[in-house]
Amino acid sequence: MKICSRKDCPFNGELQSEKNFSKDERRKSKLQPCCKSCFKIYCKINEDKTRIQRKQYREKHKDALNVERKTKNLILVLISIS
Ligand SMILES: [Zn+2]
Repeated sequence: MKICSRKDCPFNGELQSEKNFSKDERRKSKLQPCCKSCFKIYCKINEDKTRIQRKQYREKHKDALNVERKTKNLILVLISIS
């Protein structure tokens, strides 16, 4: 039996079966410090974050491209005037 290391664990510091922990060979205990339930939650949060970051990046990039296009158009206008 093992207690999950995460404070926001749905098991709330209760003892859980080792089956609820993923294996981690690099650790002395050979088990991950947080349980599978936490991993699911944690991974989902990360997934959402990555999705938001990707979206923000795309939007930033889009703006930069628009500015570039506008600048090019302005230069073309200036050239045609002169
Ligand atoms: Zn947990």
